[in-house]
Amino acid sequence: MADTVSWRTLDQLEPKGKKILLRADLNVPVKAGEITDLTRIERLLPTIRELADKGGRVIVVSHFDRPKGKIVPEMSLGPISTALGQQLGHDVRFVPDCIGQVAADAVAGMKDGDVVVLENTRFHAGEEENDPVLSQNLAVLADVYVNDAFSAAHRAHASTEGVAHLLPSFAGRLMEIELKALDAALENPERPVGAIVGGAKVSTKLELLENLLEKVDMLAVGGAMANTFLAAKGYDVGKSLKEEDMLDTARAIMLKAEAVGCDLVLPVDVVIAEDFMAGAPTQVVSVDAIPADWMALDAGPKTVEMLTEKLSGLKTLVWNGPLGVFEMPPFDEGTNRLARAAAELTKEGKLKTVAGGGDTVSALRHAGVLHDMSYVSTAGGAFLEWLEGKVLPGVVLLRETIRDAFPL
Ligand code: AMP
Repeated sequence: MADTVSWRTLDQLEPKGKKILLRADLNVPVKAGEITDLTRIERLLPTIRELADKGGRVIVVSHFDRPKGKIVPEMSLGPISTALGQQLGHDVRFVPDCIGQVAADAVAGMKDGDVVVLENTRFHAGEEENDPVLSQNLAVLADVYVNDAFSAAHRAHASTEGVAHLLPSFAGRLMEIELKALDAALENPERPVGAIVGGAKVSTKLELLENLLEKVDMLAVGGAMANTFLAAKGYDVGKSLKEEDMLDTARAIMLKAEAVGCDLVLPVDVVIAEDFMAGAPTQVVSVDAIPADWMALDAGPKTVEMLTEKLSGLKTLVWNGPLGVFEMPPFDEGTNRLARAAAELTKEGKLKTVAGGGDTVSALRHAGVLHDMSYVSTAGGAFLEWLEGKVLPGVVLLRETIRDAFPL
């Protein structure tokens, strides 16, 4: 079992009177100037409230969209700062640059408990280049740094990584929840631990599969990825989506699973259709009976039953990717049914479920169980890189051991 990693959190920070540079992820979805989903803002509120209520001076920084180092007025954080203030029920002052005199003056005018939002860090090219000068310019504004942007932690940017070298650094509450959930899922899970990995392509999830194999006791492969594995085993998968150039890789993964004693589970039956369209006539067939002109678009009922059975023997489950074309009924049925089974076991306290990455959040929302999992990460890329076993640059410097080794 891996050593338990401990993180420096807000429990170790006395915010009163301190200028706190808070790296948030305010990169919310916006359509026609309207924020379409407030989840990221809502999840950030506990950290801001805690810091402000305890008398901290909260200086929020974030990127928004991809202005590529230039000032793009439509990518200003101004409107998002207004939305943040509304959600917070607290005055939030917006500052039109994240560094320089304007930022320094705004911070100098802050009182304990005040919150300001600085302009988009990516208006400066140094952000994505992790330019030490930009990090320094950010660091001079504050006494301490709090990172609450797990979703941006896979990028070594000035505001996610560079600045953590220059200030005492702490994980915010959202970051802490995310790190603890991932630790409980993969680093120090209650065993047996299983993973469900679905989705379209083996090629995009190769590192993820290889890392998971070494960490989990059971790995169920679903979705079109499973077609590639079935084809690698010699089954004819008809017109199903598969990656011909990944067959050897799939074989190597199966051999590795055997070598490390991981139970790699593939579908035993599939829902097939002749046409890739919603409501297309379907059949359920065993995986050795897919007709040449048909394609597998979902896991069949026997597979779902078998996987449900497997889930009931687990203590921990990691889920990434759908079992079928969940956007197109009736091919959402397999994902829906298995997600509901996982949700039931979670609600009964028998299973800890951590899910996330790519389409997983929408698949679980579609199944109506988004809030019944132990933790659903909305972090996308950072969550996937964690599943791949990568060290996230925005997280490393929040570790106790590392901070102790490099005291400021
Ligand atoms: P990913 O982004 O790799 O997690 O893949 C998610 C996508 O895989 C979704 O858009 C699904 O519709 C798609 N998918 C899952 N199963 C199949 C399948 N059997 N055939 C085609 N696409 C699939």
